[in-house]
Amino acid sequence: KKVADRYLKREILGEGTYGVVYKAIDTTTGQTVAIKKIRLGKQKEGVNFTALREIKLLKEVKDPNIIELIDAFPHKGNLHLVFEFMETDLEAVIRDPNIFLSPGDIKSYFQMTLKGLAVCHKKWVLHRDMKPNNLLIGSNGQLKLADFGLARIFGSPGRKFTHQVFARWYRAPELLFGAKLYGAGVDVWAAGCIFAELLNRRPFLQVLHFCDCLQNLNSIQCLTSVLRLTLELEVKGANSNNDQGGDSDIDQLGKIFQKLGTPTLSQWPDLEWLPDFVEYSSQTAQPWRKLCPTASDDALDLLSKMFTYDPKSRISVQQALEHRYFTSVPLPTDPAKLPRPA
Ligand code: ADP
Repeated sequence: KKVADRYLKREILGEGTYGVVYKAIDTTTGQTVAIKKIRLGKQKEGVNFTALREIKLLKEVKDPNIIELIDAFPHKGNLHLVFEFMETDLEAVIRDPNIFLSPGDIKSYFQMTLKGLAVCHKKWVLHRDMKPNNLLIGSNGQLKLADFGLARIFGSPGRKFTHQVFARWYRAPELLFGAKLYGAGVDVWAAGCIFAELLNRRPFLQVLHFCDCLQNLNSIQCLTSVLRLTLELEVKGANSNNDQGGDSDIDQLGKIFQKLGTPTLSQWPDLEWLPDFVEYSSQTAQPWRKLCPTASDDALDLLSKMFTYDPKSRISVQQALEHRYFTSVPLPTDPAKLPRPA
């Protein structure tokens, strides 16, 4: 019998898209857990579906590199999802100036990322929201994919998806061009962005908008609460305008082209049929050596294959895992020995 009494609530860990995440103790096992509370009832029906989808997908997938769903139960009009507690995430590792990541460390974190993703893709599930703060890290150094809130089964042909699901910097070009039908390649592109971010220690295809800057000011709490509230309202307005129109998508494509060059029709024949296709003035690709100065030749070869424009020619996650980068020295660091924030 599952009752909420089973879990002893501790502090709030964070606020997610659909509700608060608490730290808690599972009194039956003594294990520390994270409980994601999803508001039900008064919300639009979509929220329920998202939650149910998350449960179904997570229950199907059991793997060392995927976050474990321990329990799920309704309580006081909320849906509670109980996950294994994770100490930190990859974003915190990348942003920590006190952490040095050796080439073997980077290889290890990235290999675990791809292993988790390979399991999803084998089950015909797209993650669709790959970004460093969705890659959680446990006390044993294991990296696990989290936040399947947006994932969906992509097996059935002819199925259409909404394309505005990714954090913009990790969004594949086919999504930015408005593709309604897309595949596992969107996760490969995002994983490539994460790889480059591990190597460079900064987001690879980062576009800063005015409202992003406001949000950053917000988060460093250098403003009075009154001013903060005013800004929040403005940010919300600005963001909703932005997300409707393709302005930010166009800026994002501009950033991609500036680094990787504009795609040609010989590179990507289907490009001209995408809904939001427009001709861009041609730019040449920068050399990979210049884009990621610290990376090995093997790393750069793998990167360039993940950033192939045509999703049909882009390397698959399984192929990426079999790339010589992972078998050449230095070998991936043992997860237990990986550096983590203090
Ligand atoms: P979002 O919907 O914005 O991606 P989540 O709902 O997944 O965010 O999580 C919100 C916050 O709760 C995260 O930023 C993270 O700090 C924390 N969190 C989520 N899951 C866990 C977990 N399993 N262990 C520890 N902290 C977690």
